[in-house]
Amino acid sequence: MCVGVPDNMSFEDSMAVSAEAFEKTSSIERSVASNGMESKEGGNQMKVSKEVKCELVDFDSLPDYLKDNEFILRCYRCEWPLKETILSIFSIHNETLNVWTHLIGFLFFLFLTVFTAMMIPRDATVPSMQQSGQLTETNSSIVQSGVIDRLSSPLRAGELETTMPALGSWHVPELLVNCLPKRFSHAGNHTDPCVLASVKNDVTSIISPLLMQPVTRWPFFAFLCGAMFCLLTSSMCHLILCHSERMAYIMLRLDYIGITALIVTSFYPLVFYSFVCQPFYCHLYMGFITTFGVATISVSLVPEFQAADFRPVRAGLFFCMGVSGLVPIMHKSIAFHHRPEAILSAGYELLMGTFYGLGVVIYATRIPERWMPGRFDIVGHSHQLFHVFVIAGAYTHYLAGLVYLKWRDIEGC
Ligand SMILES: [Zn+2]
Repeated sequence: MCVGVPDNMSFEDSMAVSAEAFEKTSSIERSVASNGMESKEGGNQMKVSKEVKCELVDFDSLPDYLKDNEFILRCYRCEWPLKETILSIFSIHNETLNVWTHLIGFLFFLFLTVFTAMMIPRDATVPSMQQSGQLTETNSSIVQSGVIDRLSSPLRAGELETTMPALGSWHVPELLVNCLPKRFSHAGNHTDPCVLASVKNDVTSIISPLLMQPVTRWPFFAFLCGAMFCLLTSSMCHLILCHSERMAYIMLRLDYIGITALIVTSFYPLVFYSFVCQPFYCHLYMGFITTFGVATISVSLVPEFQAADFRPVRAGLFFCMGVSGLVPIMHKSIAFHHRPEAILSAGYELLMGTFYGLGVVIYATRIPERWMPGRFDIVGHSHQLFHVFVIAGAYTHYLAGLVYLKWRDIEGC
């Protein structure tokens, strides 16, 4: 007896059954094998389609929401997976320099912020606008009580910096030497009491303001934070906007908020330090620009305002917000025309406006790529130049901010 063969089955029958079973088994195996091959092929197809997805494409292949500049013809990323989109920061495409210009700008302003916090005199305590007058009175009493007499030698003057290290970076001794009246140097060996009394009065008037506590720094740091936020969100926007339509929507809103933050916070040092002694104008201008900024952000975020019809309204809001800075700048230049700091800072602000203005003109006219479409796809197109001008403008404003700090630290109100 053969094991496994039913007793009532002949050998031929059992052979036939075995052949049928073999056939079935083989067919199942073939089917499994072919399925495996199919699934492998399917995987390869997926891989291929993924690789195809991560290829750079031309302008004509883009969905409408990614079509922005028809003069940049090639090297677009389009709806890549998020990981590949983020990693594309290290590869070459037409957004590479847009990402890196503002990322480097962000790192530069981060360095400036740390430098400012560490190297520029800090505000030990924050004198309010009302306190400033009291401080001046206090300083006068300090001067009259003989403190200034103690500063009559260079060593004593050095003590000023020791006791008030916040003033150290403004080079107090050099400032004093430069500011001393000429007759002091011509006094020679004369001990004319009139000359000495006069010199004492002059020195008193020079040193008195130096005893002011440094003015508060928050408007300056608000500007630095606004600049860093704008540069970082812009860089992120350029990197991952192409991932999906939803991502593009979110990142463009974030970009609007960043631009608004830079414009609004740029007003803060200008308005605060110019009108620190005139609370009415200080509050008026700061309240105005803050309200304007909040309104602009709201308009940018509300879906109803995203329609193409509102595009001019949105652009107009940003434009008006920037241009409205002319009002406090002109006010300051007229009210403090006798102060070199006011004129110098206005000069920096004029330069800043020139940089921003040039950047916007280049951005809007799409120069130079409109002259040679496709020639500036990777390097040199208008948006990259616009980014460079934005950083130059923000840095000029930083320099103006340093002038304001020095002015108000030394003069107070
Ligand atoms: Zn940009």
